[in-house]
Amino acid sequence: MRLLPLLVLLACKAPVPTENPAEDAPTEVARKGFVIAHTNDLHAHFRPQPVDWAEGTVGGLLAISGAVEDLRDSWGEDRVLFLDGGDVRSGTPVDEYVVDGVRTGAMLQFMDAMGYDAWAVGNHEFDKGLADAGLFVATSKVAPLSSNLETESGEPLFPELERSKIFEVDGTKVGVIGATTPSLKKFVAGDMSAIHIVEPAVAAQREIDAHPEVEVWVALTHLGVEDDRKLAAGAPELDLIVGGHSHTRLEEAVKVGDTWIVQAGQYMQGLGICQITPKGDGSIDFKYQLTAPREDAVGGKARPAVQALYEQWTETLANDWGVAVGESKVRLTRSYDYESSMGNWVTWALAKRTGADVGLYNAGGLRSDIPSGTLTRETLYSAFPFGNEVVVAEVQGSSLIALALRNATALLDPENGSVVQQHGLTYGYREKLGSPELVDLKVNGEDVDVDATYKVVTNSFVLEQAQRYLGAVPTNPVGTGESVRDALAAVLAETGPIEAAPEPGGRKVE
Ligand SMILES: [Zn+2]
Repeated sequence: MRLLPLLVLLACKAPVPTENPAEDAPTEVARKGFVIAHTNDLHAHFRPQPVDWAEGTVGGLLAISGAVEDLRDSWGEDRVLFLDGGDVRSGTPVDEYVVDGVRTGAMLQFMDAMGYDAWAVGNHEFDKGLADAGLFVATSKVAPLSSNLETESGEPLFPELERSKIFEVDGTKVGVIGATTPSLKKFVAGDMSAIHIVEPAVAAQREIDAHPEVEVWVALTHLGVEDDRKLAAGAPELDLIVGGHSHTRLEEAVKVGDTWIVQAGQYMQGLGICQITPKGDGSIDFKYQLTAPREDAVGGKARPAVQALYEQWTETLANDWGVAVGESKVRLTRSYDYESSMGNWVTWALAKRTGADVGLYNAGGLRSDIPSGTLTRETLYSAFPFGNEVVVAEVQGSSLIALALRNATALLDPENGSVVQQHGLTYGYREKLGSPELVDLKVNGEDVDVDATYKVVTNSFVLEQAQRYLGAVPTNPVGTGESVRDALAAVLAETGPIEAAPEPGGRKVE
């Protein structure tokens, strides 16, 4: 934030906001600052969901929209900015529908109806290629932002993409700068060579320097919390970073220098609420709350247009994707840091389907938990939205030893990468003189033979990026012609309900 001219400074002088904004009706004379409400990583979700951090179901279109209307009622329409940190697409069957001429167009209608002011372009917008991403950006009525995605000649990547946007909020000029993860190309398949990516702090500083009239600077990013920290250090004039990408529920705002960093989890489950009061000396008063709005509490306040869309899409998905494909007696959950129950089950099922010795899956490819109860086509879609093919291939026993050691390394310290989800390997590991060590390794109950060839099954994305995930490239890959979803549905039909969470293959020994 910059020092303000005296006139503006006087106009902005404001009392400190009270604890409960809802009890505090706005008036013309008493300015109390403004509110930034935010979400991120919606991933085409729009219904309330069960979560492991709260009872019952939270969030969804009606609850989030209702909560924002509540804020607009109590603070005043022009004192609420509503932002999203990107990855609007890729997560539910909503992606399969073309609306307003574009895939996942329903999400753009939702965001328009809810009254979002801007969103940052995320890496998953590009899952079906550059042209499809460009069409999505062009179709959005809500401002799509990214300051660091450019063409080779230094123009914004798409004509409709804005680097930043300046809003007048409660008499304050608030600059919102978009940013997209520089690792975009690593995350998406297809030719992305037309994209030139600028370092986020450099791109943000360029906007800050170009707009001296802005009083409060906000970066709206799809970078993840760690890169948001680097951005705060690299562009210290930022007052606030509203983030996404790492799907992090920041219960407390993080502060780096004078910059606050917030993020609101994922999948339209939560709503972050920032109260900002410019103090007039170049700094702000800042209060933050991460909320989990519930449909039964505030859903009735959602705008009528939002309610109509919600009903329409709930019915569409029930008709098209509501067919039961199986049942689970337990909830299977996910993790990057250990072998999760869902990872163990999926890799077991794929090994069963293909007769492979070992099933392997990337933790990031499991996108939502398998709930207990009836499993529908939609359940499988939301868990595996990317439509990857099941592939089998061969590896040497020595590669399996290396893989188990990689997992042991990640299990002992999550900072050392994510754990590959697997079935077929059982291994003991320990830490010895600060280094991970394998104590034993069996493949389906037999000691591994370093020179033997083993059959592995995984998804096409992992195979494409095998060096990154497995540390070795399997040989003789063969596509099965079957998607992961279809393979799992077939296994569920054949084996009946999932009775219990499977056991992980790795065990720590002292
Ligand atoms: Zn995401």
